[in-house]
Amino acid sequence: QESNAIINGMYEGLIVLDQKGRVKLVNSRIKNDFSLSHRTQGKKPIELIRSPELQDICNDMLEHRDKKIVNSEIELPGKKYFHVSVVRLGFEDNAPEIIIVLHDISELKRLEKIRKDFVANVSHELRTPLTSIKGYAETLLSVDPEDRDTVSGFVHTIQKNVDNIHDLLQDLIQLASLESGEDEAKLETGDAVNAFNSAREICAPKLEERQIQLASEFPDEDLFVNSEYKQLVQVFTNLLENGIKYSYPNERITVGALERNEEIIFFVQDNGPGVPSSLQDRIFERFFREEGVTSARNGSGTGLGLSICKHIVNRHGGRIWVQSPLPGEIQGSIFYFSLLRAQSG
Ligand code: ADP
Repeated sequence: QESNAIINGMYEGLIVLDQKGRVKLVNSRIKNDFSLSHRTQGKKPIELIRSPELQDICNDMLEHRDKKIVNSEIELPGKKYFHVSVVRLGFEDNAPEIIIVLHDISELKRLEKIRKDFVANVSHELRTPLTSIKGYAETLLSVDPEDRDTVSGFVHTIQKNVDNIHDLLQDLIQLASLESGEDEAKLETGDAVNAFNSAREICAPKLEERQIQLASEFPDEDLFVNSEYKQLVQVFTNLLENGIKYSYPNERITVGALERNEEIIFFVQDNGPGVPSSLQDRIFERFFREEGVTSARNGSGTGLGLSICKHIVNRHGGRIWVQSPLPGEIQGSIFYFSLLRAQSG
């Protein structure tokens, strides 16, 4: 009775096989994970868990009596991964022969993949501007120093690429610090429009350069929110920079807020190409960049801006999302984020 409770309370999945390699017993974890409602006794492992590898390990164990334990990893459909230990036990006549312990490592595998992708992405993002810098620097050595135009063109390109690397590192450092979750958000009560004004100042040169108009449609009253001021500025800045980057020249970007009970919903709207609905969740993932759009737009980004926004907004207890195209149109996008309203000023 007690051992039954222990076996069924185990986090790991457990299968016990008899000397012929037929199932004697499975615990609740196996029943749940593999949705086994029918009788399991007398079946082969592969009839419960569709893994030829696992069946092979069991067969091998049954044939080679000297094998005591085999550890392995199996992959099952639906990106499921298990660590399996197959252990020989039985000596007495009707004692169980083989015990299989399955440990679900799908989440570990998923995290491992994210880490690998991340390293690959960072390396790739760094290599592109570095290759360009290397190429231009080398060519620069062979141009006539008197040819001022060519020299200055090359140096400008090098400078732009150095800026890109700098931006990427800045974003990475910020993302790392947000993801580490070490420092709790230090919230202060303040008017969100101040944060927007700081962001507008930061973006002024870019607005100027692309001849983009910035219209603000904030309600007249103060919009008090609890936020970490610098981070709120960052969210506005990232959204504005995207708006500028993806807008066609001479277009207009509109920023404003909607008041909804205890929430204030801020928006940044542009008339650019918009975001296809299939990508509207994915653009908030780190390093996500839409193919094609990247090359067509002005300047390159890191693909980290929106994931930084998402982190910041989430740690303030808000949400961030995009609506695209604009209602009744075929292009444009509105990025929204919500923050909790603060009680007083
Ligand atoms: P990036 O540095 O590439 O701009 P972001 O995380 O800020 O990185 O954005 C991710 C992707 O989302 C962009 O590459 C682009 O495809 C899409 N995107 C972001 N903002 C806009 C916008 N205002 N209009 C259209 N597409 C956008």
